[in-house]
Amino acid sequence: MSVDIYFAANPDLWPDYATPLRDALREAGVEAELLETPPRDPAAVDYIIYSPDGVIEDFSPYTGCKAVLNLWAGVEKIVNNPTLTQPLCRMVDYGLTEGMVEYVTGHVLRYHLGLDALLAAQNGTWNQEPPPLARDRKVAVLGLGALGRACADALARLNFNVTGWSRTPRDQSQITCHAGECGLVQTLTEAEILVLLLPHTPLTESLLNAERLAQLPRGAVVINPGRGALIDDEALIAALDSGHVAHATLDVFRTEPLPAAHPFWAHPRVTVTPHIAAETRPASAARVIAQNILRGETGLPFLHQVDPGQGY
Ligand code: NDP
Repeated sequence: MSVDIYFAANPDLWPDYATPLRDALREAGVEAELLETPPRDPAAVDYIIYSPDGVIEDFSPYTGCKAVLNLWAGVEKIVNNPTLTQPLCRMVDYGLTEGMVEYVTGHVLRYHLGLDALLAAQNGTWNQEPPPLARDRKVAVLGLGALGRACADALARLNFNVTGWSRTPRDQSQITCHAGECGLVQTLTEAEILVLLLPHTPLTESLLNAERLAQLPRGAVVINPGRGALIDDEALIAALDSGHVAHATLDVFRTEPLPAAHPFWAHPRVTVTPHIAAETRPASAARVIAQNILRGETGLPFLHQVDPGQGY
């Protein structure tokens, strides 16, 4: 039996996804009709492939839809949509994970090795001050999900002294794991390098506010590839201005693209990257979509299903 799949993600993505999706569905043994234009009968659609910059806002006509399959890892733009009654699955794939591990590891090493200071000192000065070993550098990762866990593991493999924080208690080899409010204070007070890999939910909104920034040791640095709304922008700028936070690398922002007038652009202690930490890759994402459709059709629970109650 054939399933109807509506590609309702950003239409600009269709040329990149059409062939990988067809290949992945064929490999998974799923017979499917892939629609890239709005279906004449929405009720007949079995699965919707979605991205927040796509074409659907009202999911109510899709009465036969068995799941909405998001191409993005973050779901904050859809999870509270009142018309969404279908199961929602988010993207977890090796393309996203490997991209994030490379981004986080690269920026942690930049800070750990003091690369900026070395570049600034190319003026004939012979000042031998080697960095500490990674084992003596404390890195904290807030969020131990698919991405946070992979980054924490990669950093621990490089010998960094890694602490992780999550909502529910986790047990991860080589990582000191904390949970809950007390755990957060413990995590922040020791973090020389702080990495934010939390989703944006009501509980994580402005999590890094003035009070929490003050709990970081003086001179700590912040790397945020999670979501812009995790940080209170004004509080971060104040902490950077006072030198309490030495530097921040920010990949995600409350408004994207980051407006030209936003103080982050010109701040000497901020590195802006344009939401490029990790990108969903069509070839690997198409396989995840096909696997999930196969699971739906064979009565298995969906992978990476979002809990609307938690918002991620
Ligand atoms: P997951 O859903 O797998 O993991 C989320 C983690 O955050 C879990 O460990 C969860 O805890 C923890 N968490 C959630 N709420 C709280 C809370 N209130 N207090 C403490 N911990 C909490 O997400 P991913 O790892 O896949 O992705 C994380 C985020 O990264 C995405 O939501 C997205 O915003 C961002 N992202 C950014 C990209 C970029 O290019 N910049 C690309 C892809 C994703 P628990 O383990 O207990 O459930």
